[in-house]
Amino acid sequence: MSRSTVVFLSSLLLLLPLAHTQQSAPPAGGEDASKSLPFTPPDKIFGYHDPAAELRAEKVFLAVPDPELAKKHLQVLTAAPHVAGSAEDRRTAEYVLQKYQAAGLDAHIQEYKVWMGLPLDVRVDLVAPAGVTMHGPSPERVEDDPFQKDGRILPAFNEFSPSGDVTADVVYANYGRPDDFKKLKELGVDVKGKIVIVRYGENFRGVKPFLAAQYGAAGVIIYSDPWDDGYFKGDPYTKGPWRPASGVQRGSVQYLFRYPGDPTTPDIASVPDLPASKRIPPDKATDLPKIPVTPLSYGDATPIMKNLGGPESPRSWQGALPFTYHVGPGPAKIHLSVKIAYQFVTIWDVIGMVKGSELPNEWVVTGNHRDAWVYGAVDPNSGTAAQLEAVHGIGELLKTGWRPKRTLVFCSWDAEEEGLIGSTEFAEQHAKELARAVAYFNMDVAVAGPDFGASAVPSLKPYLRDVAKSVPSPKGGSVYDQWKATLEKKEQEKGKEQASATSGTADREPSAVVTEDVKVGDLGSGSDYTAFLQHLGVPSADIGSKGPYGVYHSAFDNFAWFSKFGDPTFAYEQEMARVYGLEAMRMASADVLPLNYEEYGKEIVEYVKAAETKAKTAFGDKAPSFADAAKAAARLQKAGAAVLAMQGKPMGDPAVLNLVLRNTERMFLIDGLPDRPWFKHAIYAPGEHTGYAAVVIPGVNEAIENNNLELTRQQLQILTAAINRAAEALEMGK
Ligand SMILES: [Zn+2]
Repeated sequence: MSRSTVVFLSSLLLLLPLAHTQQSAPPAGGEDASKSLPFTPPDKIFGYHDPAAELRAEKVFLAVPDPELAKKHLQVLTAAPHVAGSAEDRRTAEYVLQKYQAAGLDAHIQEYKVWMGLPLDVRVDLVAPAGVTMHGPSPERVEDDPFQKDGRILPAFNEFSPSGDVTADVVYANYGRPDDFKKLKELGVDVKGKIVIVRYGENFRGVKPFLAAQYGAAGVIIYSDPWDDGYFKGDPYTKGPWRPASGVQRGSVQYLFRYPGDPTTPDIASVPDLPASKRIPPDKATDLPKIPVTPLSYGDATPIMKNLGGPESPRSWQGALPFTYHVGPGPAKIHLSVKIAYQFVTIWDVIGMVKGSELPNEWVVTGNHRDAWVYGAVDPNSGTAAQLEAVHGIGELLKTGWRPKRTLVFCSWDAEEEGLIGSTEFAEQHAKELARAVAYFNMDVAVAGPDFGASAVPSLKPYLRDVAKSVPSPKGGSVYDQWKATLEKKEQEKGKEQASATSGTADREPSAVVTEDVKVGDLGSGSDYTAFLQHLGVPSADIGSKGPYGVYHSAFDNFAWFSKFGDPTFAYEQEMARVYGLEAMRMASADVLPLNYEEYGKEIVEYVKAAETKAKTAFGDKAPSFADAAKAAARLQKAGAAVLAMQGKPMGDPAVLNLVLRNTERMFLIDGLPDRPWFKHAIYAPGEHTGYAAVVIPGVNEAIENNNLELTRQQLQILTAAINRAAEALEMGK
């Protein structure tokens, strides 16, 4: 090679884009052998006209989250059972506060006084047929778990079950869905006055007693069938990650599809000095179940299920217990006695802020809950550990003099498990400030395994894909590459896999597919984004990663399980800390907000089409015209596309465009959904019969499902007006 060629090549090298330097981002821990894909982060960032400074800051940030430190956080946070309101929960709040402050956040503990209960005495006794006995619930025991015998572990119970004492014959109602109760009727089996036994899965657990009560049941038992998360899936704990015979799923049965949060204060915050006159009496609350409910392990459920006579159950109702399921009623008869002490309890959110340098009144909020039913290693503290490492990264950036343009707010929620209480009360308290918030980023179960996934409003879906492209995966390539590969594999195996028994966000299918790109699910409920999106209209997203996980809400969701099955090297903890932190910091400093209203419009076009088809099936010739709604959706898509083109162009002052982008989501807010005025979003709500899964354009779809033509017409008008408002807002940005 001649000297002049070398000079020529060197000057060529100088012209290469700067961003290649980011290839040296630190490798994630573990699984080194399998790093086949290279990691090449993008050198352009949508919303940044000159991304150089942001790319430098991101590089500094991405280098900080540390698997070993995440492990230490998780160990400390899960050292003891820490149900909301307990002394142990308070200690976790103080740990988080200290880490927020150490990173340089302006942090404090925010108290609320909320209505909730703790179990005094729960009994499930099999009293017939003669000669068979079962006195439950049995303690959760496996051969060799180091955490199972802690005296602070609460007996398994369902939060917000009323206290009660019932003795009755048992009827099996499969998953307790509307169709399951209909099927029982067809079979001539009446659940009136009976104790209904249902299995976990398919819908939110609070929906099961909601429907059972409508059919006149006297009590409900919810058990974990080995089909759904036990030995039918794989080896049970401690040999494998699946639910052992004694493992019980605790959980709230609040009607969170009516309203979440403190049952005595819908719409207002349960601040400690709230006068009693502002609260509604608990017996007047419309989000609390009316009949006693309790959870059970499949070990304890076996003798009940085995002693049901009556018709053979439909074959799809058969679980994995080793006998043919019948529906009853009887001869199995149960004495169910539930005593729960309800009172006002103090809970502790931890809030940490980094004030924005240019737009301090615009918040980018991120949250994770901290309270757990027992130890909560996966749910939720895999998220807390990752959050703390994200905060650690922000802290290191602050030391370099970096400041976000907008204010970053990190939140550690309490009492999520009881009913999304800490986040709901905070959102209600700060409704005014949150009217200017740019986005809410949630993370609950950060790591149940290696497979990344997300749910979001459509405007944030492209943003999440972009963020995932900038973070390396422990498996090689980017998080985006692995996400794509996992979804492609899932697509090939479609039909083989059962629906998940948990509320995992990493698992959700979107209602409408409008892109060839990686699928991002829709937001229903089941975690803390609910109040932000569905009450206040803050664009929201939820991230997580899943894997074989059968110990959800049991005493076995602990550090021993996590370090053996969840994330032995804590490499996925590091990954999630990076994604979560990057999500927040990139949004906070964007020149032009990276919200994509073209994708939003496209999805709404599809929602309207699907609802129209459904209405034609339900009402035939009488079906109302969907033309105006379809026109509004097309208008939104068009306006979204026009604004998107502007977002990509350099401009002088983007203030007006940003204002438009910030306000558009709020245009979807309406006075409230029929019978549930707390839910104010015209496009997304938790389903009344699904609870976790989203119902899209809920006013219209639920009116059709209820066969109510007049309500369908009325809701269609409300929806059309909301979509037109959003389109009009966007048109002002053009
Ligand atoms: Zn959780």
